[in-house]
Amino acid sequence: MTAWINNRFVPYEEALLPVSDLSIQRGYALFDFLRSVNSIPLFLPGHLDRFFGSADGLHLTVPYTRDQLGAVVQELIQRNGIDEAGIRLMLTGGSSPDTYHPTTPNLVITCLPVRTATNEDFEKGLRLITYEHQRELPHIKSINYLTGVWLQPLLRQQQADDVLYHSKGLVTELPRSNVFIVSKEGSLCTPAAGILHGITRKKVLELAGGLLPVEERAVALEEIYNSSEMFITSTTRRLLPVREVDGRLIGNGKPGSVTRELYRRFRELEEGLRAGGPDR
Ligand code: PLP
Repeated sequence: MTAWINNRFVPYEEALLPVSDLSIQRGYALFDFLRSVNSIPLFLPGHLDRFFGSADGLHLTVPYTRDQLGAVVQELIQRNGIDEAGIRLMLTGGSSPDTYHPTTPNLVITCLPVRTATNEDFEKGLRLITYEHQRELPHIKSINYLTGVWLQPLLRQQQADDVLYHSKGLVTELPRSNVFIVSKEGSLCTPAAGILHGITRKKVLELAGGLLPVEERAVALEEIYNSSEMFITSTTRRLLPVREVDGRLIGNGKPGSVTRELYRRFRELEEGLRAGGPDR
């Protein structure tokens, strides 16, 4: 495998950061993660926008233009020759002599095979448990997944697939996914604040146009228990239905008709891009 670090392509094993890097010393770094299909990067413009936005948010400067970075991603995919890859762009606070103040950022890009959710995963759906937590600087895709990783033993103990964060009575997102419900009134609702604005979330909102009313708004924890459908979105999981939250069944526990139709539209969009269609 080939990776990219600070202006050069290197074997993956040689994409190394010094121990003085602020990502290691203080967890100060950001990243973005996208997929390629048929060697075509999916939703690259949106991922680059978010990467530059996250860098701005952490007061770090990306040492390339958007076009230069896009070209590196394209070349990395070609060099690795993996049809379905996960591409991770990471920008760190840099090597810091006093282990606290950011210096010149280090930029690492990797491209590795990726597993995505299957149609079987879709049919099965997810069991979630809720947990009170608000991610720090939620609009930034930082490398801080402390709470999510820390909660893994609890998930195993509760035989749950994932955790849904909520704060002050409102749901926000999962550690690595956004969340949607179909309300009792028949609208597609997704939290707007306190979240990372997922690229899959954005595509799903676009795809829902004309299918049902869409509301980006605060969603109360109580409301999700009574929703008729619920699903999550992320780059590797696309759309996955939620069948149960805190032991309570959502709808009849099966993927609902809106979730199914949006999933169908999303797969169709992906197939269009795989065939070389325009990516906006
Ligand atoms: N929310 C958080 C906190 C995430 O880390 C992610 C992705 O990893 C998402 C939402 C989903 O974003 P995307 O659809 O861009 O993968």
